[in-house]
Amino acid sequence: MRKIIIAGNWKMNKGLSDTREFVKELVDTISSLELKHTIPLIAPAYPFLQEALRESFGSAVQIAAQNVSLHSDGAFTGEVSATMLASLGLKYGIIGHSERRQYHEETDSDVLGKMHKLFEQKITPILCIGETLAQRDANQTAATILSQLKGCLHGVEMHSGNEIVIAYEPVWAIGTGRTATPEQAQEVHALIRKWLRDNYPSAVAENMAILYGGSVKPDNLKSLLACEDIDGGLIGGASLKVDDFVAMVKIANDSLA
Ligand code: PEP
Repeated sequence: MRKIIIAGNWKMNKGLSDTREFVKELVDTISSLELKHTIPLIAPAYPFLQEALRESFGSAVQIAAQNVSLHSDGAFTGEVSATMLASLGLKYGIIGHSERRQYHEETDSDVLGKMHKLFEQKITPILCIGETLAQRDANQTAATILSQLKGCLHGVEMHSGNEIVIAYEPVWAIGTGRTATPEQAQEVHALIRKWLRDNYPSAVAENMAILYGGSVKPDNLKSLLACEDIDGGLIGGASLKVDDFVAMVKIANDSLA
């Protein structure tokens, strides 16, 4: 059985005390749950990673960075390297989020470079891919997804399926309140898993967690998780309220019962 990841991408929200209080409350609440294969994960802003790691230490809650530099070290003002993230004890890093692609012009080859930096530091990349509305309307969804997979994973060796996590996030569903239907999401997740099956040892496709992202909330998570190839969510807006986040962790946990 694959693990289910409920991942909160906080983007540029929450300062020090909000981060501390949220993670504390999350850890307290989930300590009474018997989490089976569900992993709750939070991605706060860089300055608060250490606080989140401290508050979650010893619990099931995992912490991720929202980005990482393409460079190892040196004169790159404002950048944060994978080595720095690893020195905090971080285990996950989001790369290729559509907002990075859109506002910072990140390409698939940048994402691949970042993935290698994370691999070097034994940090698991959460690779985001997804089509724009224009691409979907032009019937280019499958072609876009396959091209992103090929570009972001070019030459990447995988054996177990635990090397990375993939997050399928249709750009038109991010922060818009417009969720892909479970059928639309499942269709793309199945395509991703088939591509993995065609290009990697079978364990990779069978074990890899493929998350759906795009206006996920407590109300729609259950029907998304009921789909065969959806193994969790990458969640923006609805991850900012601890009650909603806990509700989604519970839904995920119950979905495996
Ligand atoms: C995201 O930031 O990755 C995301 C999916 O945001 P939202 O849940 O707000 O659509």
